[in-house]
Parts: sequence; structure tokens; C-alpha cells
Amino acid sequence: ALELTQVRKVFDGNVVLNDVNLRIENGELLVLLGPSGCGKSTLLRMIAGLDTISSGELRIDSQLANHLPPAKRQLAMVFQSYALYPHMSVYDNMAFSLKMAGIHAAQIREKVQAAAATLQITHLLDRLPKALSGGQRQRVAIGRAIVREPAVFLFDEPLSNLDAALRGQMRVELARLHKQLGATMIYVTHDQVEAMTLGQRIVVLNQGRIEQLGTPAQLYRTPATLFVARFLGTPA
Ligand code: ATP
Ligand code: MG
Repeated sequence: ALELTQVRKVFDGNVVLNDVNLRIENGELLVLLGPSGCGKSTLLRMIAGLDTISSGELRIDSQLANHLPPAKRQLAMVFQSYALYPHMSVYDNMAFSLKMAGIHAAQIREKVQAAAATLQITHLLDRLPKALSGGQRQRVAIGRAIVREPAVFLFDEPLSNLDAALRGQMRVELARLHKQLGATMIYVTHDQVEAMTLGQRIVVLNQGRIEQLGTPAQLYRTPATLFVARFLGTPA
């Protein structure tokens, strides 16, 4: 499990996350939902080790992880901007981190082929990123995470650059991927519909604090605060 206890983040004297207590079970798909600026990306980056934790504790499978280097956390992050290497083929983009890790070429080929098959991008492996659609690029970005076989996937609004139809389709695929891989996924979005359709549990963040944590049905039926009710558009 991933456990956050009394986690707080201060940037330049501004408290951007406060009093965050959260336990994410292994294999869970948890959505972090909240308006722009509420601290979603910061929370994800602290879990990834890309931002320091000002105070409080992060534990990964019971081990204190506040100062654990990102590479030792067994997680992979997928960003909104895909940040593919423009001069490398899809195959090389997906193989890159494995090459860096010194993995044998034959084994790399196997992992990349398997991930490409899962994401249905086998026919695109020789292409450069500029010759891909937004949805295809997003798949490659997810593929780069999959080949590393992380225990935890961190998604930061990965679908926000896609049109509505493709977003819906990718949502279904992510849910399928979650089942297939059995990995923990933390999925950040400011989109209520996305959160309600994808999340097993949803954390609603507002101004750096957790307003409510619950299943989609719980949030919908019994919003804990006026903010949650308004944000989800449920009758309060
Ligand atoms: P969005 O939905 O727009 O991506 P978010 O919920 O991901 O928003 P964060 O990026 O986590 O929000 O930012 C939370 C707050 O922390 C904001 O007020 C932001 O201005 C501030 N912040 C984020 N990163 C830094 C930084 N490196 N230095 C100073 N302030 C920061
Ligand atoms: Mg963000």
C-alpha cells in the first residue's frame, strides 16, 4: 500500500497541500479529482519523488519513502504532455528506459512487443512521433510506462489533450489495462465524468485539502460538503 500521513507541502511560504491522509491499496485504481490549482499534480509528484514533502510521511509498502530516490519507488508517471523523444521511433521511445537500465536487447524486444500489442500500436513501432495522432502518442506514452512493469502508475491528466470521443475510448482502455496488469493506478483529473467512470474510489481535493474520499456512488449520494456537491453537480 501507499500511505500518506499528515502530508503537507509548502511552496515559498504558501501551503499548497495540508493535512493529507490517504491509504491506497495495492492494485487499486484511485482518482484524484479537483479544480485547477488544488494541488493534484503536486501530490502526485511527491508520491513520485519529483517534489519533496515539507512535512508528514509517505510510506510505500510500510517503508518510509520520503527520501527514497524516484528510481527506487517502482512507479511510472504519465503526463498530460506526452514528452516523447521526437527524433526516436515509437519502438525506441518505448525501449529507451530499458536500454538505460542495461536490459538485454532480446528481452527489450519482447517487452516492447507485448506492450505494443496490449495498446494496439504494433503497426506504429517504426514511426516517428510527429507522424502519430494525439491518441496514438498518448498510447506510446503509456507504453513507455508499461514496459517498465511498475507496481504503481501515476497518471496526470493523460487524456486532456484528446477529443471527447477518443477520451472516452482511452478511458475504457485504461480500465481494461488496470484489470489486465493488476497494478496500482493513481489517476489525476479535473473532469468529474472521467473521475466517476474510471475511479474505484475518488479523492476530492480542494485548496490542498481532502474534502471527501469515497466510491463514485458514495460521493454522488452523500456528498460530505457543499463543495463536493457543487463540484460533482449533485443535488445538495
Ligand atoms: P491543474 O489542474 O491546473 O494542473 P493542480 O491541481 O495540478 O492544477 P498543482 O500544480 O499541484 O495544481 O499546484 C498547486 C498549487 O501549488 C498552485 O497554487 C500552484 O501555483 C502551486 N505550485 C505548484 N508548483 C509550484 C512551484 N514549483 N513553486 C511554487 N508554487 C507552485
Ligand atoms: Mg496539475
